[in-house]
Amino acid sequence: MPSKIISNALRNGRTVLTEVESKQLVSEAGIPVIETTLAKTKAQAISMSKETGFPVVLKIVSPDIIHKSDSGGVKLGLENATQVGRAYGEIMAAAKRANPEAAIHGVSLQEMAKPGVEVIMGMSKDDQFGPVLMFGLGGVFVEVLKDVAFRIVPLVRRDASQMIREIKGYPLLEGYRGQEPANITVLEDMLLKLSDFVDKTPEIKELDLNPILAYSNGAVAVDARVILESQA
Ligand code: ADP
Ligand code: MG
Repeated sequence: MPSKIISNALRNGRTVLTEVESKQLVSEAGIPVIETTLAKTKAQAISMSKETGFPVVLKIVSPDIIHKSDSGGVKLGLENATQVGRAYGEIMAAAKRANPEAAIHGVSLQEMAKPGVEVIMGMSKDDQFGPVLMFGLGGVFVEVLKDVAFRIVPLVRRDASQMIREIKGYPLLEGYRGQEPANITVLEDMLLKLSDFVDKTPEIKELDLNPILAYSNGAVAVDARVILESQA
């Protein structure tokens, strides 16, 4: 039985899950994500931000806007209710400019995670091999240097361990110039959970956790994007 999140989206004729839905889905699979809630109005965003505790992050929630920061849809480090109110207005205005037709669910609200090493995990489907997992360091490492490793699903511990260690940027995970090292076992566990999850969820076409913030005592995904297979 696929998750309710998947069946709801498909019933509404959508193959793109929002950040909020994607995080809920991977969290059900035991993958650590930062607690994220949906605010449908400015007033709700403000009252929810007080409950979350400052600083907070606000992001556009729309199945029609996939690259949120490119569309002016991400506001980081908001320190108080006034900043949250202003950010809400700016995000909505930017979303309308980026895509006037976009269906807007509201904004997502989450704590500002403490700095860590940014890594990414993803799943895509290969015509020949089926689901393949990807691991890399976030930002320029993946976008410019294409420093990533791939393994065919299902992964065993040895695959997870090797793919993390074979990227060129691996030394950055071991702690570089005073940077806190990442806990490699935690990252391996996440890859294995992700492998299990995509293996038993064929409805998923693509999945990205970008970025995951990695620390010496854990890791947490702060963004998630899931694309479903379109129904025949
Ligand atoms: P998108 O990838 O759609 O542009 P993200 O949700 O990944 O949007 O946000 C853009 C960037 O903002 C991330 O790569 C990350 O560096 C930072 N970021 C996002 N959410 C958080 C958070 N909760 N805490 C700290 N930094 C965040
Ligand atoms: Mg992202």
